[in-house]
Amino acid sequence: MEKLTIAIQKSGRLTDKTLNILSQCGLEFHIKKDVLFASCASYPAELMLVRDDDIPAYIANGTCDLGFVGENVLEEKVLKNNNYDLDIPIIKKMNYGKCRLSIAVPKEQYFESVKDLEGKVIATSYPNILNDFLKAQGVDAKATMINGAVEITPKLNVADAICDIVSTGGTLKANGLKEVAQIYQSECVLVESPKSICDEKRKMIDQLLQRLDGVLSAQNTKYVMMNASKASLDKIKEILPGAEEPSIMPLAQSSDKVAVHIVCKEEVFWKTIEQLKAAGASSILVLPIEKYIQ
Ligand code: ATP
Ligand code: ZN
Repeated sequence: MEKLTIAIQKSGRLTDKTLNILSQCGLEFHIKKDVLFASCASYPAELMLVRDDDIPAYIANGTCDLGFVGENVLEEKVLKNNNYDLDIPIIKKMNYGKCRLSIAVPKEQYFESVKDLEGKVIATSYPNILNDFLKAQGVDAKATMINGAVEITPKLNVADAICDIVSTGGTLKANGLKEVAQIYQSECVLVESPKSICDEKRKMIDQLLQRLDGVLSAQNTKYVMMNASKASLDKIKEILPGAEEPSIMPLAQSSDKVAVHIVCKEEVFWKTIEQLKAAGASSILVLPIEKYIQ
């Protein structure tokens, strides 16, 4: 029987979230310390635990069938290998691992537009994405490759500016830098090997994608139940964000009131619940949805 080989980051920011989502899809892995592969008792799949930077190459040459990786890492490798036509299809955006690649300069440095980077040295672990951006902007600056701790290079006089991953901006601030241009938006994506995949594996991938859809579409969705008067139904639909057509059920011993069940595609906040109450709803229940198959 065929087995899907799935590459994930061994240890880093994407690891827990990826394992968690795979587990929600019914794929539980038995991970031992310091091993490259992990087996799965509940699905014909095995995990390959590697550095995120190696995932695009393993996917490109067919060592793995699927991989979870940051778009930033994927784009950097794809640009680097452009001459060899590295073509790795993204089959799902995962909605976690969100970050941006930004240019930052020392906070006291004058900066009005990217043209001010002309002639400057910019330290980065993403020289290909950076050069692509600079070229598109018509700016002649030098990208210097630095692996790790890019943010300290201006202080060390190694570079005039940096181009690095930012999520909150806290690290930049702590190093006396200001973010001046966002050049790339990224999130974790699921990629598939461009090498031919047999029918059996194709079926498994389709099944996994359907399960992922079920788990991802349930994120932030809520199942809201309440009692309300028939007259207030339009108002209730207006109040609930992203609500679908509600299910309406009669209540025993009441001709005017009904039970309303609605799947809400957005977070339901306290304010929304208070508005529902003001519109005449009572016995309001808000439940999380684990899986949502449309
Ligand atoms: P490895 O040892 O696997 O090479 P790494 O140090 O290169 O790990 P991490 O710092 O764990 O990588 O980040 C992995 C990915 O998580 C990044 O490439 C990026 O896509 C995403 N990410 C999300 N938020 C952040 C952030 N604040 N800083 C860095 N990466 C982030
Ligand atoms: Zn890495």
